[in-house]
Order: sequence, then structure tokens, then C-alpha cells
Amino acid sequence: MKRILIVACNNIRDKHCIACMKCFKALDRREGEFARYKDEEVEIAGWTTCGGCPGMVVPRVLLCKELAGLYERDFDVIHLGTCMVKAGAVSKCPLNLEELKQKLEDLFGKEVVIGTHNY
Ligand code: SF4
Ligand code: SF4
Repeated sequence: MKRILIVACNNIRDKHCIACMKCFKALDRREGEFARYKDEEVEIAGWTTCGGCPGMVVPRVLLCKELAGLYERDFDVIHLGTCMVKAGAVSKCPLNLEELKQKLEDLFGKEVVIGTHNY
């Protein structure tokens, strides 16, 4: 069982990427970056955003970790949504996702995956 925390671009989630249906679909079908769980059960432990530009991901993940402890909803892996990848590619997202991934892994000891669906 893998418990997943998804972090999305605050500018895109539910504004251009409505209802996060793409990620739900990809997770159900184990497509995109979720293909790695094809033989595993998965559960969404939480779903948050970067909080808006310039992207306060670290403090938000810290808050998620605290709440996860409080509600017994700890997560194993953090997915930085495809929306965050697109924000860097098509707009002026100030986040460097490779650096962010390293920072999150170092600080929280969690696996971090860049991306989610590939639609
Ligand atoms: S890429 Fe995924 S997490 Fe990001 S807004 Fe779209 S469906 Fe939601
Ligand atoms: S563009 Fe980057 S920093 Fe701004 S809301 Fe989206 S992911 Fe967050």
C-alpha cells in the first residue's frame, strides 16, 4: 500500500484543470507517473497546492505532515502534479522542481515524484 500526497499548482488546480479529474483517472488506470503502482494498492492521503506563487511548498508539506500525524494519515510519497511541471514549461513558475524534490526528500525523508498524469 502506498499512501500519496499530491501537490498541485495553485494557479491551475480547479481553474484550468477542473476537479482534478485527470489525476483521478490516471491514478485509477495506473497511467503516467502512477504506472509505478500497477501492482500496488494506493490511497490518496492528501491533496494540497503550492499555496500560490512563489510556491510555499516546503511549509505546506510540513503542515501536511503535522496534520497527517494528528489524523493518522501519514503518506509515503509526494507527487508534484503535472500541473506544476506545466507551470514551469508554459508560464513563469519560479519553482525548480528538481531542487524542490531534493529539498523535500532531504527534509521529510519521503520519496518525491515529479509529475502525475500524462494527458
Ligand atoms: S495535474 Fe493533477 S493535481 Fe494538478 S490540477 Fe491537474 S488533475 Fe489536479
Ligand atoms: S506557477 Fe508555480 S509557484 Fe505559481 S502557483 Fe503554480 S506551481 Fe505554484
